[in-house]
Amino acid sequence: MRIFKTPALLRYLFPEYVWRKTSKEKCIYLTFDDGPVPEVTEFVLQQLAIYQAKATFFCVGENISRYPDITRSIVEQGHFLGNHTYNHLRGWATETDTYVQNIALCQQQIEKYQPKQATNLFRPPYGRIGRKQFREIKSAYRVIMWEILTYDFDNTLPAEVGLQRILKQTTAGSVVVFHDSVKAFPNLQYLLPRFLRYFAGIGYSFNTL
Ligand SMILES: [Zn+2]
Repeated sequence: MRIFKTPALLRYLFPEYVWRKTSKEKCIYLTFDDGPVPEVTEFVLQQLAIYQAKATFFCVGENISRYPDITRSIVEQGHFLGNHTYNHLRGWATETDTYVQNIALCQQQIEKYQPKQATNLFRPPYGRIGRKQFREIKSAYRVIMWEILTYDFDNTLPAEVGLQRILKQTTAGSVVVFHDSVKAFPNLQYLLPRFLRYFAGIGYSFNTL
């Protein structure tokens, strides 16, 4: 079963993670995980620019070191870089020390392009982080989960079906996850322009977290 919208119960059980933002304004928080990736991230940037949309990119550190120019354009265009570990590690399957070091390694890459922040943003790959891991990082990072998962990475889901679901479930304050990855690109090319056009058309703006 595909769960497009995070159940309220889960948000209630884990209130220390950010799932959505309370917003009085008509604002949506777009996030892009797993980049930067040539062509894919560049496509995302072009689409966002059309709507003056700002977004948060949860980057994998090794992709940042591989693609400095793309990373630089993300920041120059007013978007925000978040941390998604250096090697896209799975929290539940990784020793806490290794996990925390891997996050720090990614952060070093981020800070080559973006000024140091009082609080950094972190999204655990696969949305999985152990309680101990969370305790270790919580003073330095805000953990951002999501309210709306677009399933752009799921090539067995017809894109039109996915689009209808995410348009219906997204509301003011939603944190929405897309992926700027090679795997998600076919669906992303369908979903993102339509998502932006729809919500911009009914008066929404798109901001960084
Ligand atoms: Zn990821």
